[in-house]
Amino acid sequence: MKNKMVFSHPGSTEWEAVCQRCGRCCYEKIDYRGRIYYTKQPCQHLDSATKLCRVYRQRDECHADCSRLTPELVAAGILPKDCPYVVGLDNYQAPEMETDEA
Ligand code: SF4
Repeated sequence: MKNKMVFSHPGSTEWEAVCQRCGRCCYEKIDYRGRIYYTKQPCQHLDSATKLCRVYRQRDECHADCSRLTPELVAAGILPKDCPYVVGLDNYQAPEMETDEA
């Protein structure tokens, strides 16, 4: 199955409308040997109640580490496996999630 996002442009209304506003990608991540791991630490600007970014329109100025989604970044494996941006991507390798298990 092909992912329909390959035909839309980052930042376009169509592209932005794909996001379900779950906030899961707004947790800090670790890149270890080319694999992405999610931590349990949310971004300081993520509203835990609404799951929305409090500074979305100014995020570039407020949080220098925030990355805008591009097709290349999506393919790099930073989004959960059921995020609509990656559903249907061939060979997508989703991040590992930090668990309580040792
Ligand atoms: S994980 Fe996907 S659907 Fe959820 S907030 Fe991030 S981009 Fe949007």
